[in-house]
Formats: sequence, structure tokens, C-alpha cells
Amino acid sequence: MIRPLKLIKETRKTAILKPPAFDCLKGAPAINITKGCANLCVYCYARGFRYAPPKGEVHLYEGLSEKLEQELTKRRRLPLWVSFSTASDAFQAVDEILEATYRVMKILLERGIGVSFLTKGFIPSEFIELFRRHHKRIKARIGIVSLCDDYAKLFEPFSSSPLTRLSCAKNLIDAGVDTSVRIDPVVPKVTGSEESIGELIKGLKWAGVKKISVSSLVMRPALLNQFFAELPPSLAKDILRYYSGQPWQVVITSAKTKLLPMAMRISCYRAFADLANSCGIESSICGCKNPDLPWQCCNPWIDAKDLLSRSQMSLF
Ligand code: SF4
Repeated sequence: MIRPLKLIKETRKTAILKPPAFDCLKGAPAINITKGCANLCVYCYARGFRYAPPKGEVHLYEGLSEKLEQELTKRRRLPLWVSFSTASDAFQAVDEILEATYRVMKILLERGIGVSFLTKGFIPSEFIELFRRHHKRIKARIGIVSLCDDYAKLFEPFSSSPLTRLSCAKNLIDAGVDTSVRIDPVVPKVTGSEESIGELIKGLKWAGVKKISVSSLVMRPALLNQFFAELPPSLAKDILRYYSGQPWQVVITSAKTKLLPMAMRISCYRAFADLANSCGIESSICGCKNPDLPWQCCNPWIDAKDLLSRSQMSLF
């Protein structure tokens, strides 16, 4: 499939370090290299944001590294960590985006600021070498929901393949980087089978992954449109049927979200936890996307002590 991509350069008028929307990332500023994301995952909530560009358009912020230097110089205290990829992937397979990401991450790391990211992209070797030199200041999260290529082609058509992501996780771990895997969203009927979970956990064990966080798909109005426009209609209907009797509720920043029925989520999370634990992998549930379950912080890149000291120190 040919990726629709129109890369537009844009000058960012506001600050590039922003307070994050997610509770579990509170205290650490977030940065996005682009507005819009070339990976075009069918289940991407960010594509439905008010400011998101049209499908296939990606806005690359110009002069990010210079602007970042200026912002850091003006601060009385530097942040301990900066979190990437809250609304776009920092490792989209576009040379100019990767170059911008590299420059920005290098500036942060060389100033002693930790870098956290979540990606479904391929991480080139020059990044791995940079991360090896600063491994104590990197918290990497790789998004993989299933190792099945058919699933990836339908739901994540322009991300790197699941096996490539597994290799990236292994490369990071071999470079000494704290690396966990985010299994989100588990799509009912599609990626929650025992076979699919078993295959994935086996792959994660091979890569040396020790921590995973899991969440089922949460439904939002924008996703309904994306599902019907980009999936075979019968598959979209089958998935959405699981959400039909569920109430709309506030989840994270969205006032209109439906959760998968609780019993289904619990059984799915148990299946992941049982298999993961049997392979020596620690499993947690994403607390932000499961507000009706006992809270678990699935953020693997910081401990409570760091969080406290950072919120106290943060200028936000
Ligand atoms: S990689 Fe992340 S930000 Fe990019 S389209 Fe997929 S879900 Fe959205």
C-alpha cells in the first residue's frame, strides 16, 4: 500500500515543551516533532483531535532544536525528563522527521535531561548508539499489539512491522536501555485470542522484555468514522458491536469515550498477565484507560520518588 504523505513545514508559535495530557506522565513536559502522524493507525485517537491535519498530511515543526535550546536556556531549572510522542510518533519513517528527532533528543541528553518515548517505528542505528551512550537517561516504550502481519497491515498500515519493532526492543535492551512494551489497544475479536497473546509473549521473551502494560481499545466518536472508512465494513461492525450497550463517559481528556465491558477487559488482562508472568515478564494495566479498575500506574519510566521530586521541581 502506498503511504499518502504530504510533508508541510510549519513554524511553531507556542512553546514546544508542553504539560502532558496523561496523568501518568504528569510533571514531565511533552514534545511532539510533528503535528499529525504518517503511521496512520486506524485506532489512533490523535487523528480525531481538533487541530489534527487532514489524513496524509504531516506538519513538521521547523527549527525545533534551536527553539528547544532557547526554551531550556530561559528555564531556571531543567526538567528531569521529557516525554516524546504523545500525539505523533517520533520515529516516523521520513528522513527529515528522523533527523529532527535525533537533533532534539541529542540536545536533551547532552544537557542531562532524560528522554522517554513510545514508538511503533524503526529506530535507526545512530539512535541506538546515542542511546547506548546515555542509556541511564532513556525510557523506551515500544507499541506492539500482535505479531500477526495481517493485523498490522489493516490496523497499523504504515508503522514498521511488528517483527521489526520486536528487533528494535531487543536492540535497545542490548544497548542497556530500560525498555518496556505497551500492548494497546487490544482489539476485541482481533488481537485478544489466546494464540495471539501467546505468540506475542513468546516474541517479547525472545527480545528480553521484562515489563508490559496492557489496555483494551477504548472507543471514541472519531474512531467510529475511521473504523468504517478504513476497515472492511463487516469487521468494523463486529468490533463496534462490543461497545454498543456501553455508556459514553469521561476518560483521560475525552468526554465521549466507551470502554469495553469490564468482564471482557478483566479476562483479557488476566490472560496477558498469566502468560507474561509464566515467562518472567511483569504485566500492568493502563490505569488512565481503565478508570473503573483499581488504579495501576503503567508508566514504566519513572518511579514514585522521581515523580514527586519532578512535580515539585517542575515549573509547570
Ligand atoms: S503511531 Fe501513534 S500517533 Fe502515530 S498514528 Fe499510530 S497511534 Fe497515532
